[in-house]
Amino acid sequence: MKTKGLNSEQTKRSNRLLVLRLLSMMGGGSRTELTGRVHLAKMTVSNITAELLQSGILYEKETLENAHHSAGRRQMLLSFSDKAPAVIGVWISRDSLTGIVTDPALSVLGRHSLPLKQGETAETLLEKLERLCKRLAEGAQGRTVLGIGVASIGPLDIQNGKLLNPPNFFGIQNLPIGAELEKRLGIPVFLENDTNAGALAEKYFGSCVDCSDFLYVGLTNGVSAGIVLRDTLLHGAHGFAGEIGHAVVNPDGPLCYCGRRGCLETRAAVPYILRDAQQEFGDEEIPDFAALCNLCRMSPMAENWLVERLSSLTRVLLNLSNTLDPEKILIGHEGALIPDRVLARMEEELNAGILAAGHASVKVERSSFDCMAAVYGAAAVVLRKVFDGKLGYEIFFPAS
Ligand SMILES: [Zn+2]
Repeated sequence: MKTKGLNSEQTKRSNRLLVLRLLSMMGGGSRTELTGRVHLAKMTVSNITAELLQSGILYEKETLENAHHSAGRRQMLLSFSDKAPAVIGVWISRDSLTGIVTDPALSVLGRHSLPLKQGETAETLLEKLERLCKRLAEGAQGRTVLGIGVASIGPLDIQNGKLLNPPNFFGIQNLPIGAELEKRLGIPVFLENDTNAGALAEKYFGSCVDCSDFLYVGLTNGVSAGIVLRDTLLHGAHGFAGEIGHAVVNPDGPLCYCGRRGCLETRAAVPYILRDAQQEFGDEEIPDFAALCNLCRMSPMAENWLVERLSSLTRVLLNLSNTLDPEKILIGHEGALIPDRVLARMEEELNAGILAAGHASVKVERSSFDCMAAVYGAAAVVLRKVFDGKLGYEIFFPAS
């Protein structure tokens, strides 16, 4: 009897979490749409949405199914109300802190950022993070803030919420960001690598909702990848999966800050690309990667140069495609600025080289969050805890 009772409770809980996750991913919707996606009995879906309506987390509004047809049927749409809790996402990059506060459907309620300047220390970094999060919490407009996701440059100890020894980051080392922020703010904090966070944003809210095997590649001061296989984000045995920036592309190449020679980053990281672009196109002002990408849109010569320059990245992605067989590779962080034609040429080059050419193809696309997947992903890190039933369950289902 006891076992049966437990099973049915667990089923109820997992159905509730499934409906909540789908509602979040869809940003609300009609019961019919929802039932079509969750593959649960209509009655089960109705009961769960009724609970969420009763607790005030959802509200419904009447709308025309097809506004362009006067004969369009009326239907009720479910949306998250202002009683639904909020989550905070913060992205620590090398030069700034960027944050958003969102509702459970990742709709932004407020955003704020703070620059990082020369001379930052562990203490000033924590103080700025605290200030940023407090400001974001104000933007939650009285909603309960369930948690703070921090997407950060690595390497990280995710289990213990610790920033380990990131290169070129004010010499800050072994900083227990999670514990320190929790102590100061009294809200649970979850740390994740920034490209892994980008991959989560794409999986739950971006262009990979229906894609189970893909890579999110963050191209900026460094290069790394968030790898999703069979719908699961890969962390590896020690939490360092996806550090493709240190794949060796030329053993006799220049020295990398990691102490090895010829790492991908020495070719494809944005500062090195810009340094060489400035030399190549000396007459042009190229202050940043956006300027270089604009130049590529106007000049075929510059476009050819960038494609050639990124060919080492394309080769590493080709090797990964042969190893992991992804459906899609999304290029994000500053890489989202790369012109369409350059991405198309990278896709062509990659597909010409894969072993299963003609039988399988890999799409190379821009991130659906432009350059901001990491900060949306930071919020998605918290929402994933909610979807897994590890955070805020009693707020969504108080009657349980
Ligand atoms: Zn290296």
